[in-house]
Amino acid sequence: MAQALFNKTAANLWVSRIIPLVLIVIVAYVTWVVIVLICANYLINPPQSLHTPRHGAGIAIIVLYSILLLLIGVTYFRLLFTVIHNPGYVPRGPQWYARQEQKTRGKHRHGRQHSKKDSDSSNEKSEGSRDPASNAYIYGGSPGTATTELAPSIRDFYTKDAFVCQGDGRPIWCSTCLNYKPDRAHHCSEIERCTRKMDHFCPWVGGVISETSFKFFIQFVAWTAVYCIFNLIVAAYFLAEYKRKTHTINVHWLVTICLGALFGMFAIGMAGSSLQFAILNTTTIENLSRRNIVWTLALYMPRPPETPPNFRTISYSAKQRLTGSDATGDQAACTIRSFAILHTKPGENPFDLGPFQNYKTVMGEHWYDWFLPIKYSPCCFHDGTDSQFTLGPVVQRMRREAGIELPEEADEEKTHRRRRHRRRRRHRSDTAGTRDAGVVQDDGPNEKVGPDTGKHGDEVDLESGLANTNVIVQ
Ligand SMILES: [Zn+2]
Repeated sequence: MAQALFNKTAANLWVSRIIPLVLIVIVAYVTWVVIVLICANYLINPPQSLHTPRHGAGIAIIVLYSILLLLIGVTYFRLLFTVIHNPGYVPRGPQWYARQEQKTRGKHRHGRQHSKKDSDSSNEKSEGSRDPASNAYIYGGSPGTATTELAPSIRDFYTKDAFVCQGDGRPIWCSTCLNYKPDRAHHCSEIERCTRKMDHFCPWVGGVISETSFKFFIQFVAWTAVYCIFNLIVAAYFLAEYKRKTHTINVHWLVTICLGALFGMFAIGMAGSSLQFAILNTTTIENLSRRNIVWTLALYMPRPPETPPNFRTISYSAKQRLTGSDATGDQAACTIRSFAILHTKPGENPFDLGPFQNYKTVMGEHWYDWFLPIKYSPCCFHDGTDSQFTLGPVVQRMRREAGIELPEEADEEKTHRRRRHRRRRRHRSDTAGTRDAGVVQDDGPNEKVGPDTGKHGDEVDLESGLANTNVIVQ
């Protein structure tokens, strides 16, 4: 198993180093053909027997070619930089580091020749070390990229109003990284790390395409597709003209056409499928089971169900130390957050916000974000209180059907119903008088909304001074 893993990783590394070199050679060759052979030697400074110089066409092609090459270079290096420096890895759990330390100590005990100091320092560089001041772990491939970040704790999940969970309501656990997996995170077997919203392992850049780099990947393959089509059209047009005049074929121009067609088809396919995933708010990995996947979600219940629910629930209780004017009595309070454990229908995507909104969560809010690799995707930021990723109408429907709508959702629904009701009444009075006014066809349980339970107050309490966590499964 270990040997197979090594071979797989070594093969990926080999491919990731060879592919960029081959691409650089191909781009250099195509640049020579387009700029020197077509523009300089054929359009701007042609043999007198062929035609008069065409400076305008030659310069326009050089400018357009340079712009496209620049865009490809910028998007590629932005992609490469992000994959190396902000790959979207989920920090490993403390138990993983403890296990590594144990293994290292075990090796020493069995008479390894290396001194303990050397071994510890090499372990720090390759795997990680404890930061005594913050109880965080310092990790990173090299000293220059080392960062500190705590592994996701269970609090990061139950303080939100919704999260992806296991069947018992607990967050999903990775038994390799020994950490909780954030929503939509996937364990990558190539690099043995959980990665946020992982799309695929890309040999072009030798790393994982995740939520941080998916936008730059789309831009890179899309600009590459435009570049290939541009070269194909230029070479094909002037090759046809050259053949008409000389009855011969320039081999380099023909090779450029073949390269443009080959890489163009590949890039168009990659750009098209990646854009489709962005519009559907899914990833290459999620797409494998898109048509029949069932998501299990823990959805916060703002109040206890009025009747015994027909779904499982889970409660998270957090003891907190009170301060200031609240510090009376036993100096501590217990906050309980209860969640319904609900399942989507097969093939439903709880993160689907509609095509254009899905597109904007990946590519950005403004049109220039769609074309230039300036900012990260909006979906990289998980500081919202509702959930780690914005949830769509599927989850609203699930809440409504289970009778656990959040107060603001219920208010929205009420306002929507009132508007719809008013429109109907106006329509009826215009057409058939007021005889049927007041008859509402779609009264449902979602009209019964209880008082605000102080949800936001709970969130504030939970954020501060958390002492311990109890999970009660009902
Ligand atoms: Zn993992």
